[in-house]
Amino acid sequence: MSRLCLILFGPPGSGKGTQAKLLRQSLEVAHISTGDMLRERVASGDSLGRAVADMMQSGGLVPDDTVNRLVEERIEQPDCARGFILDGYPRTVEQARLLETVLAAKGISPVVVHLQVDYNVIIARLSGRRQCPTCGALYGVTSNSPEVSEVCDYDGSKLVVRDDDKAEVVLERLRGYDRQTVPVLEFLKNTGVRTFVVKGAEMPPQAIARQIKWLLKERGGTA
Ligand SMILES: [Zn+2]
Repeated sequence: MSRLCLILFGPPGSGKGTQAKLLRQSLEVAHISTGDMLRERVASGDSLGRAVADMMQSGGLVPDDTVNRLVEERIEQPDCARGFILDGYPRTVEQARLLETVLAAKGISPVVVHLQVDYNVIIARLSGRRQCPTCGALYGVTSNSPEVSEVCDYDGSKLVVRDDDKAEVVLERLRGYDRQTVPVLEFLKNTGVRTFVVKGAEMPPQAIARQIKWLLKERGGTA
C-alpha cells in the first residue's frame, strides 16, 4: 500500500482547517501545516530553526528550497508512516516542482483536493460576522448569533463589523488566494497529479470529509 499524500487547497473561509483535522483523525495520517511546521522549527532552536527565525524576523519569505527541505524532513517522521495531509503547501510553482521530485523518489503519488466555495457565500458569511467593541465577543450569522440582533449578549454594546471581515477586504484576500494558487494548481494538474474539486461550505463538515474519503478510496487508488 502506498502512502497517502493529500494536498489540500482552499481559500479563506472554505473550511480547509476543519477538513484537515477531520481527515487526519479518520485516515490516521499526519496533518502538516507549513505555518505550524515553521513555528515548531523556530522553537526547536537548531541551526535551521535559527536561520528560519532570522528570515521571518527580517520580514522576508522563507526560500522555497528551505521550506522544501523542512517538508522533506517532516514527512520522514513516524506519524507520517501511513501518509500525510499538506496544508498551505506547495504555495509556489517552484515548491510544487521540488515536491514532485521528492515524492517521486519515494514512490508517492500525490492527490489534490481543492475545496471550492462560491465567493459570494464566503463574503456573506464573513461580512455577516459581528464583534462586540467592548468585550471582543464574536457572533456569527447562522451559528452563535446574538440574542438580540446587533447587540452584545454580555454587555449590551452595539456590535460592529471587524475590518478584516468587510466585504472589500474579504474579496481582496480571495483574489490574492486565486493569484497565488491557480498557477500551482495548474502546474500540478499539467504534470498529471489527480485533482478533485469538492464543494466546500455547502454541506456539513462531516459530509464533506466523507466525500473526500470516498474520492480518495474509489477514485484515487489509495488508502
Ligand atoms: Zn460585549
